[in-house]
Amino acid sequence: MKKTGPVEIVKPKDLQEAIALVRKGGMPLAGGTDVFVRIRKGFWDPPFLVYIGELPELRGIEFREDGAEVGAAVTHAELLRSKLPQKLPIFRLVLEKLGAPAIREMGTIGGNVANASPAGDTLIPLYLLEARVNTVGPEGERSLPIEEFILGPGKTALKPGEIIRSFWIPFPGGEPEAYFHKVGRRRALYIAVLSLGALVWLDGEVIQDARLALGAVAPTVIRARGVEEELRGRRLVREDLEPLCDKLAATTRPITDVRGPDWYRREATGRLLLGLLRLRRDTA
Ligand SMILES: Cc1cc2nc3c(=O)[nH]c(=O)nc-3n(C[C@H](O)[C@H](O)[C@H](O)COP(=O)(O)OP(=O)(O)OC[C@H]3O[C@@H](n4cnc5c(N)ncnc54)[C@H](O)[C@@H]3O)c2cc1C
Repeated sequence: MKKTGPVEIVKPKDLQEAIALVRKGGMPLAGGTDVFVRIRKGFWDPPFLVYIGELPELRGIEFREDGAEVGAAVTHAELLRSKLPQKLPIFRLVLEKLGAPAIREMGTIGGNVANASPAGDTLIPLYLLEARVNTVGPEGERSLPIEEFILGPGKTALKPGEIIRSFWIPFPGGEPEAYFHKVGRRRALYIAVLSLGALVWLDGEVIQDARLALGAVAPTVIRARGVEEELRGRRLVREDLEPLCDKLAATTRPITDVRGPDWYRREATGRLLLGLLRLRRDTA
């Protein structure tokens, strides 16, 4: 049913008040790029909204030797302007393709993850880097691996009253090459029909290690661990990758929706693996 009246927005004075308000049924509001769209379309009808976008505990990025802690209310544009893309180039590749500048200025990483969309772009680097989600709620703080936090489309492990406070993003060892390809139906401002993100550790043309994350081809973003294993020791050349395309396609569990049919998603995913050939230094 379409909402007709205005929705009340409450601005808590601190984190504790925010938690209490969310516990009472208020819906967290950060950048509002999803909340307002869905309320307007009548998909969501929260009793009231709790604006958490300026809570200091949810803001800021702290760099440590072994990783970065990113506040949930940090926007995509702030992430792009930070040192994070220098340290972890996969974030630059992904964030530059997320929405348009206005969406990136407003939308936050916490909002993107809390949505738990299989097409949520920031989930790709978070899965690849094996990030942890730090939550805070009436019963205190928790920290969960991203793969345990996301349960299904629109479903997370958040308990009543809990909000995402931050993300712990460990730096992977070595200097992996980063790859991201997002397929959409338009040239700009599109949600992924499917996407592949990868980190590849190379020794010359031999793959030492690889991590692959697929978006929009299963109920959640998924890691293709079977293919990751098979990539180890192969050369980054077409004849070594081609036999694994079908295997990558077989890891998907796509659906048909307005953005594309399941068969297309499955077949195209396999072919995306060949995109890794661009990581060859001689072809870059
Ligand atoms: C035109 C357009 C283009 C877009 N393009 C893309 C795209 O290319 N890729 C993509 O991935 N997304 C895209 N989006 C979706 C959206 O912009 C992102 O998901 C964005 O990151 C959401 O963040 P937000 O701060 O605006 O979330 P909000 O709208 O404020 O909140 C979204 C949801 O998260 C919850 N929430 C927010 N913060 C927290 C928190 N800290 N703890 C717990 N729950 C929280 C809210 O209650 C709500 O359920 C697009 C949206 C629009 C309108």
